[in-house]
Amino acid sequence: MTTSKRSVLKDQVFLRMALEISRLGTCCRLKVGCILLRSDGGIASGGFNGALPGMAHCTPETCGPDKRCLHTSHAEENALGFSEGAVAVAYVTDEPCLTCTRALVRRGVRRVVFLRPYTSMAEQEKAERTAILAHFGVKWEQVELQA
Ligand SMILES: [Zn+2]
Ligand SMILES: [Zn+2]
Repeated sequence: MTTSKRSVLKDQVFLRMALEISRLGTCCRLKVGCILLRSDGGIASGGFNGALPGMAHCTPETCGPDKRCLHTSHAEENALGFSEGAVAVAYVTDEPCLTCTRALVRRGVRRVVFLRPYTSMAEQEKAERTAILAHFGVKWEQVELQA
């Protein structure tokens, strides 16, 4: 297998892992999963979006199609919290928000690969995220799962 085919395969495998762990997400609006890799390519951590320990899960009253989820810690936040040291790549089911982007970059992430774009993000947040990615030269890639 060529190096490029191998890297395509890795993206597919880690995105599927992110999708699998997202099934544990406790928000009824959106279930998000995240897999973090170290710079040596090993898996550093995985996480999903969830309410704080012991707190009630999201309900249609707290989160819905027109209501952003403010109740959960995000998948990236949890995956970062369950690991230590620098991370290099983040695989996420959903494009990271501004806060998670900042947290990922701070921990050394150089590449973010996601399945679904974050379409309802406010313009000001989007602009700030774009500025951060440009400043740190972070690769930001939407990838589709292959059949
Ligand atoms: Zn929620
Ligand atoms: Zn986030």
